[in-house]
Amino acid sequence: MAEPTHPAIPLTLAHLPTVGGLAVPWITARTAAGHPLFGALDLHRKDQALQARLCGVCGQRLTTPLVLLMRLSDLPRLCTAEPPVHPVCAAYTASACPMVRGSLGYYRSASHPLDPMMIPPADTAARRGAAAEPWFAVWLRSYTVITDHGTLAASYAGGDPLRIRPIGGSAFSA
Ligand SMILES: [Zn+2]
Repeated sequence: MAEPTHPAIPLTLAHLPTVGGLAVPWITARTAAGHPLFGALDLHRKDQALQARLCGVCGQRLTTPLVLLMRLSDLPRLCTAEPPVHPVCAAYTASACPMVRGSLGYYRSASHPLDPMMIPPADTAARRGAAAEPWFAVWLRSYTVITDHGTLAASYAGGDPLRIRPIGGSAFSA
């Protein structure tokens, strides 16, 4: 069986733990035993990132521009519960995460075992087993923190995005 190829981990993500050659995002939830639950968010870190303007992937302070990785269905609402990230962190996620990359045809049909400090993406139940959606990189100068469906979210309703590009191709070229 061929080994899967993994994208190179950027130097700015060298401090993150890795599993199977992939950097584990700072915001990714972990089991009590410390195993990452890819796709599930650590609630405390999600809110901390949104409020302190930290990147959800590397955990470092955001710079300008910043990027929101958003599903097609999130775009009309101009917000997402997943914190903004650095462009280099967004590019790594888009190449490393099968969901964002679009190579995962369907969402996993079983939910992760979550403890109270972990939250699944907001509409997990609705998406369980549904066909995967296209993802977009929304480039912003800044964002505001709002409460959406009872959870903190990053919104760009107050200003125009710099650009919105489908993941793939030139999504991350300046
Ligand atoms: Zn980052």
